[in-house]
Amino acid sequence: APDEVIGALFHDLAYPQDATRLDRDLLLRTGHATLEKRYRRGDGREVWLRAATSLVVEDGEQRVLSICQDITSARRAQAQLKHRADHDPLTGLPNRDLLRRHLSSALARLHAGDGEGVGLLFLDLDRFKVINDSLGHLAGDQLLVQLARRLEECIRGTDTVARLGGDEFAILLTDIEDYADASRVAERIHEELARPFHLGGHEVYTSASIGITLSATGYQDPEAILRDADTVMYRAKANGKARHELFDEAMHARAVALLRTETDLRRAVERDEFRVVYQPILSLLTGEVAGFEALVRWHHPERGVVPPAEFIPVAEETGLIVEIGRRVLREACRQLSEWQARGLVRPAHYVSVNLSGKQFAQATLAASVAEALTDAALDPRCLRLEITESVVMSHAEAACATLGRLRAQGLGVSIDDFGTGYSSLSYLHRFPVDTLKVDRSFIGRMGEGDENGEIVRTIITLARNLDMQVVAEGVETARQGDLLRGLGCEFAQGYFFSRPLDPDAAARWLAAGHAGAAAT
Ligand code: C2E
Ligand code: CA
Ligand code: CA
Repeated sequence: APDEVIGALFHDLAYPQDATRLDRDLLLRTGHATLEKRYRRGDGREVWLRAATSLVVEDGEQRVLSICQDITSARRAQAQLKHRADHDPLTGLPNRDLLRRHLSSALARLHAGDGEGVGLLFLDLDRFKVINDSLGHLAGDQLLVQLARRLEECIRGTDTVARLGGDEFAILLTDIEDYADASRVAERIHEELARPFHLGGHEVYTSASIGITLSATGYQDPEAILRDADTVMYRAKANGKARHELFDEAMHARAVALLRTETDLRRAVERDEFRVVYQPILSLLTGEVAGFEALVRWHHPERGVVPPAEFIPVAEETGLIVEIGRRVLREACRQLSEWQARGLVRPAHYVSVNLSGKQFAQATLAASVAEALTDAALDPRCLRLEITESVVMSHAEAACATLGRLRAQGLGVSIDDFGTGYSSLSYLHRFPVDTLKVDRSFIGRMGEGDENGEIVRTIITLARNLDMQVVAEGVETARQGDLLRGLGCEFAQGYFFSRPLDPDAAARWLAAGHAGAAAT
C-alpha cells in the first residue's frame, strides 16, 4: 500500500545484492532498460519483479517510469529447472556438472592465492552390482540414497558430495592441508560404511574403494583431477577393495609420460618414424627358415629405438594402432615380395604380421589386407596374421566370423601368445586358425617332465589333432630347442636362432645360406 512504501528506505524493500543492474548508459542512450529485482512484501514474503524502465521527459524534467511485473513463479520454475540440471534426481546430490564447476572455482581460488589445498575423493562401491542383482533395483536405489546421506555426514558444509553416476560418488574437500586431512575423511567414510544398511527388511553390508587426488600435485584442470582420482580408485580396487589410495607424484609422472608418448606418437605417425624388423621362424626338423615375424620399431628422434611394449598400449588406446598396423602390414608384404624378387626366399616362405585387437575389430580389416597384398603383388599364402589368444577369446563369436573371412582370402591365421589367455582348449576347434604360437613364458621355464613341459606337450598334441602347426616362441638355448623337438614341435623362433633383424641384416642372414637349399 502507498503508505507502506512512501518514505521507506529502498534497502528495506529490496535485496539489492540479487538485482541485475540497471544499465544507466543504456537507459540514457536508448531511453529503455530492464532489470530484475527481489523485493520484500508487506507480509514478509518475497517477490521477484521485472521492471521495464523508461526515461520520460516531462516539462523539461527527466523522470524514470518503471512498469513492474511479478515474475516470482517464473523465477521459481527457473530455479527448479536449474536445480534439476545440476543435481542427481535419485539422491538429490550435485551431479558431475555441478561438481566440475565447484572444482573449477576451488582451483581458481587456489591459483589466486586464496585458500588452502583442494582434495578430491573418488568413491566406488565394491559390491553394488551384487546387491542390485540379488535384491533388485529398488533396493539398489535405496542403498544409494542412504549412502548419499551418510556421505553428507562425513563432510563439512563447505565440501561437496556429488553423485557421478551408478555407484560412483565424488567428494570435493576445500581448505585441506595435506593427505592426512583427506585420508581422515576417507577413514570416516569406511567407518560409516561398516554399519549395515537396511533395505526393505534386509541388512546389507558394503564397502567402497576410494581414490584421492590433491591439488598439491599442481592441477589446473578439473577434468584431470577427476580422471586421476578415477585411475587411483581402480588401483585401490585392484589392491583389495575397501580401502583408499593417493594419486602420488610417481603416478602423476607416469601420467605425464603417457601423455608425452601420446603426443609424440601422433607426430611419429605424421613423420613415419616406424620401421619393421624381422625375426626368422625356423623348422626344428630341418633347421631351415620357414618364415619371418614382422615386429614394429619406433625410431624416436630423441629416445632412440622404442620397443613396442612401450608404445603399442598407448597406440591401442588412442586408436593410432590402426594406422600404424596398416603400415606394418603393407611394409612387411612389400619386403617379402622384394626378397622373393631377389631370390632370397622361396615361394613357400611367409611373413607373419601382428594384429592388435583394435585392428581386428575394424570393419575395414579385410580390405586393407587385400590392398597390402595387391600393392605388393604378394601371394596371400605368403601372409599370416597373428592375433593374441585373449583378443580372439574376448570376442569369440565375432572373431570366428572375422577369422573365417581372412582365411577365405587365402592367408594364414595364427593365435599368438597361446596359453596366456583364459581360453579353454575345448574352444579351440571352433576357430578357423592354422597355427598356434606357444607363449614364451612356457618355453623359458620348460624343464624335462615338469609342468610347463607338460603344457607344451598338451598344446602340441592338441594342435596336431586339430591339424594346426605349432610355433614355439622365445627359444633361447639349444637345450630348449632339443626338448621341443623331442615333444614333436615343428617350428620355433627365438634369440637362440636369431634376434629380430633389420631388413638389410635379414637379407644378409638369408644370403649366408640360412634359407637352406632355398634360394634359387
Ligand atoms: P610377440 O608378438 O609375442 O612378439 C615376440 C616378441 O618376443 C618380440 O618382442 C621379440 O623380439 C621377442 N622375442 C623373440 N625371441 C625371443 C627370445 O628368445 N627371448 C625373449 N625374451 N624374447 C624374444 P618385441 O619385438 O619387443 O614385441 C613385443 C610385442 O609387441 C609383440 O609380442 C607383439 O605383441 C607386439 N608387437 C610387435 N610388433 C607389432 C605390430 O606391428 N603390431 C602389433 N599390433 N603389435 C606388435
Ligand atoms: Ca607375435
Ligand atoms: Ca607372441
